[in-house]
Amino acid sequence: MRIVLLGPPGCGKGTQAQRLCAREKVVHVSTGDLLRAAVAGGTPLGLKAKPIMDAGRLVPDDLVVDLVRERIARPDAAAGFLLDGFPRTIPQADALDVALGRNGVQVVVYYVLGDEEIVRRSLGRGRSDDTEPVIRERLRVYRAQTEPLVARYRKAGLLEEVDASGTMEQVEVATKAAVARRAAGSGR
Ligand code: AMP
Repeated sequence: MRIVLLGPPGCGKGTQAQRLCAREKVVHVSTGDLLRAAVAGGTPLGLKAKPIMDAGRLVPDDLVVDLVRERIARPDAAAGFLLDGFPRTIPQADALDVALGRNGVQVVVYYVLGDEEIVRRSLGRGRSDDTEPVIRERLRVYRAQTEPLVARYRKAGLLEEVDASGTMEQVEVATKAAVARRAAGSGR
């Protein structure tokens, strides 16, 4: 399967991504994790990305697109992958379509969660970029730049909405059902 998880920062995507990847036996591609590894490794990409991430803004499209393109071209991704935190902008979604060609995304799971719950959950994660002003900025950027993808993927008939306000287990059950509907429909 080729899966995209879409949703606001702090909606629990990362946790759901790990569980889903273990079950579906697909590669987990988290652009946030890849960028944090670059920052930790002090690579040129990491040095460029760090101040942007610390401010809650988006790293430039071309840098993130290169990371994803390189990752999904590796042999272990041939059987399927799950993109967690990508695409986050319309140009990123365009680049993904081009990169995948005929074997495009099969399902976009869209997690729906209100602003106050997002802030509450993000504060609980304790990541260094999880101070309240940065969380609010990430949310603003999400609504402005990432949310337009919802309409795009809905129009493409790929969107599966999941209520992210429940417990981790409830959201996992709903996620599993959403992916199963698509797997059945596409014959994998
Ligand atoms: P995440 O772990 O997905 O919340 O990502 C952490 C940070 O990495 C974000 O706040 C952005 O600064 C950056 N980032 C992750 N994915 C992307 C992306 N697809 N496009 C641009 N920036 C990204």
